[in-house]
Amino acid sequence: MSDLPYIPCFLGGREVPARDGFEKHDPATGRPSARVAEADADLVDQAVARARAALRGPWGATTLAERITFLERLADRLEERLDLLVSEEIADTGKPITITTQVEIPRAIANFRAFAQIAREAEEEMFDTPMAGGARARNRILRQPVGVVGIVAPWNLPLLLLTWKVAPALVCGNTIVVKSSEHSPRTALMLARIAAEAGLPDGVLNVIHGHGAGAAGGFLVAHPGVNAITFTGETRTGEAIMRAAAEGPRPVSLELGGKNPALVFGDCDLAAAIAGTTRSMFDNCGQVCLTTERVFVHRSVFGRFAEGLVAAAQNLRPGDPRAAETTLGPAISAVQRDKVLGLYAGARADGATVLTGGGALEMPAPFTEGYWVAPTLWTGLPDDAEICRREVFGPCAHLSIFDDEDEVIARANASEFGLAATVWSGDAARAERVAGRLESGTVWINCWRVRDERAPFGGFKRSGIGREGGVRSLDFYSELKTLCAYEPAR
Ligand code: NAD
Repeated sequence: MSDLPYIPCFLGGREVPARDGFEKHDPATGRPSARVAEADADLVDQAVARARAALRGPWGATTLAERITFLERLADRLEERLDLLVSEEIADTGKPITITTQVEIPRAIANFRAFAQIAREAEEEMFDTPMAGGARARNRILRQPVGVVGIVAPWNLPLLLLTWKVAPALVCGNTIVVKSSEHSPRTALMLARIAAEAGLPDGVLNVIHGHGAGAAGGFLVAHPGVNAITFTGETRTGEAIMRAAAEGPRPVSLELGGKNPALVFGDCDLAAAIAGTTRSMFDNCGQVCLTTERVFVHRSVFGRFAEGLVAAAQNLRPGDPRAAETTLGPAISAVQRDKVLGLYAGARADGATVLTGGGALEMPAPFTEGYWVAPTLWTGLPDDAEICRREVFGPCAHLSIFDDEDEVIARANASEFGLAATVWSGDAARAERVAGRLESGTVWINCWRVRDERAPFGGFKRSGIGREGGVRSLDFYSELKTLCAYEPAR
């Protein structure tokens, strides 16, 4: 018997162990930190059955106002457990405590308040169709739950990206089966526990753990009892999930990868652009779908800009994730570290000039076996080099020089992805013009990763299908019903 903590699934309002399990490692030390339930097809089936049954229970009879009240109560309960949620998130991911406490977990909790507000403010649509003799047909658009929603979650912002889906799914009256990422099961389980304590009826929010293809994730998305599937993760996984969703067919929402450009014009506030681009490259060790990995800098400021970024990269403080001064954590897993280091080696072999970093990070005990990679900046490669095309999902970017606006827009758009882009310029008209021509779901001007939950979020091209955020989320998690009633002339 292992003396590691055990992370069970959560079905029908209680913790349920699985026949199989796997060891989860602490990314900062590389040591085993927990044993996690691996849900088999039978357990997935039970989770879906619980979710289906809960639709017919008290949850199915709740009003929108009651569900809004529940979301707000859940946010309160989560806030009371903020420290524990932070601790569990760090145990899974090795994220630095300061950003986890100040940004990641508060934003995850804020999603419940935001979707409570969005649902409260969403107006019922109504259209009148004139008919003969002064009569009319009154069209009212009603929202009803889709049913059982399957959520397949990633590991990079585990609780934040999970609640971004759970909150709107719940407020729309659905029941849920979450498949947590095999790298980050802890906060998904905690969310289900705390929701149950806050009064969520049994079976409304079920959590299963396990792997993806051919395992828990695959079983969930293929399950005919799941009425809609929402996924955040890699583009290739999204393709597999879309194929599974074709059986039915079921609606699917896909938030996928990116290879996000930053465009730095010569007239920008250079200090702000350096600070913002530094965050956009290195926050969460570059493991954010919105991370900047391609930086195009106008020739007139390239030298000063590159110098500033290199200094900022070298100022990052890797170390104990639970120490307040730490600003850089590890990669999530040995596999992810090896993927990143392989791409680093490829950039070097392709002839990149390494401005800083370029390999693994040597760390002192107890972090010697952790999954640490150096913040890395390169220059000198053509836009079609592998490192300029493939998503790395690590703390790195390639810097290149541009001379004019049309050129940089064409180069920024020459990507199969289109998730996010950033424009740094002191000329508002230029920034607006450039932003309008970028093929990207989000374009930030002189800022980065500022989010309003009411705004649509999603990707162009291979970065996704559909939009989340605000009423777009409510639309995905609802069946829209048109009620068309004849009203005689008065
Ligand atoms: P991933 O695709 O490897 O895994 C995501 C989830 O899918 C995991 O829970 C995994 O177990 C599951 N899974 C894998 N194969 C499956 C299959 N065939 N069927 C069902 N489930 C399966 O992604 P990841 O490594 O966890 O996350 C990193 C990726 O996510 C990056 O590409 C990143 O850009 C992307 N991402 C996108 C957004 C966005 O909003 N667009 C946000 C965060 C991350």
